[in-house]
Amino acid sequence: MEPVKNKNVLISGASFAGLTSAFWMVEMGYKVTVVEIGSGLKMGGTPADIKDQTVDIVKRMGLFQQIKANRISLERWEFKMQKTLPSLPF
Ligand SMILES: Cc1cc2nc3c(=O)[nH]c(=O)nc-3n(C[C@H](O)[C@H](O)[C@H](O)COP(=O)(O)OP(=O)(O)OC[C@H]3O[C@@H](n4cnc5c(N)ncnc54)[C@H](O)[C@@H]3O)c2cc1C
Repeated sequence: MEPVKNKNVLISGASFAGLTSAFWMVEMGYKVTVVEIGSGLKMGGTPADIKDQTVDIVKRMGLFQQIKANRISLERWEFKMQKTLPSLPF
């Protein structure tokens, strides 16, 4: 595919979809600006699984080793139901 020159693209949202789109559009030659309404990195939340075809995508993006090196492992799951019931560890 021929590189796209001097085309500006505005992407709203710097999460998975926004940043991945920005990555590939820059690869194609677009001038990309990403705007994000959030004030900074989200430091909490649920970890995202990277598996199946996502592994192929992050490999093509050259990010696989960096992601692998920074992965977290779940050593314990705990399902809590009600205060009166004991938790159920796995
Ligand atoms: C609890 C939970 C667990 C999940 N676990 C997984 C998982 O393990 N694996 C998995 O693959 N998926 C998981 N998902 C789904 C995954 O989070 C979503 O599919 C993914 O975040 C969608 O990415 P996105 O970039 O489309 O949107 P979002 O992640 O919702 O990103 C949208 C971005 O746009 C920004 N934004 C919003 N409005 C504006 C605006 N007006 N201007 C500028 N920026 C704006 C937001 O701040 C945000 O950063 C989970 C979802 C939830 C809720």
